[in-house]
Amino acid sequence: MAYLKKEMSNSTQNTQADVFGGLRMTKQRKVVYDVLLDETRDHPTASQVFVRAQGKMPTISLATVYNCLESLTHSGAIKQVNVDREASRYCPNLQPHAHFFCSDCEEVFDIDLKSRATATTPWQLPEGSEVEQLEVTMRGKCPTCTDSTREDSGSEN
Ligand SMILES: [Zn+2]
Ligand SMILES: [Zn+2]
Repeated sequence: MAYLKKEMSNSTQNTQADVFGGLRMTKQRKVVYDVLLDETRDHPTASQVFVRAQGKMPTISLATVYNCLESLTHSGAIKQVNVDREASRYCPNLQPHAHFFCSDCEEVFDIDLKSRATATTPWQLPEGSEVEQLEVTMRGKCPTCTDSTREDSGSEN
């Protein structure tokens, strides 16, 4: 396997090149990656990816899906999202964003930064530190779930 040459590409568009951060886009990896890029973008778990990938490539095995997810994560093409002890989920959104985990419907949502905010400003970082990666996961209830539980609306927090 060829190793990552650091290449600063300014484009945020994913040109469908067959090499991704030094990673060869094999047919299987492409299928797995496409599943994650699907319009749902619902941060599926590996087994959910597997079911969907089978729809595109019936011969793909769960082990292959795991392998693909791992190499795609390592190459930086996708991100692994861990919420508690739940199965890891996968996210193709490489823009700085946080994840919001709804403890009711167990969905994971992408939360974008407010305009002009940067991912590192809210933290009291020691001077001179350099953030290379930041993972923020919030948990709570999504608007849909707060809506359906709003029967007793006496409490304020
Ligand atoms: Zn995400
Ligand atoms: Zn919810």
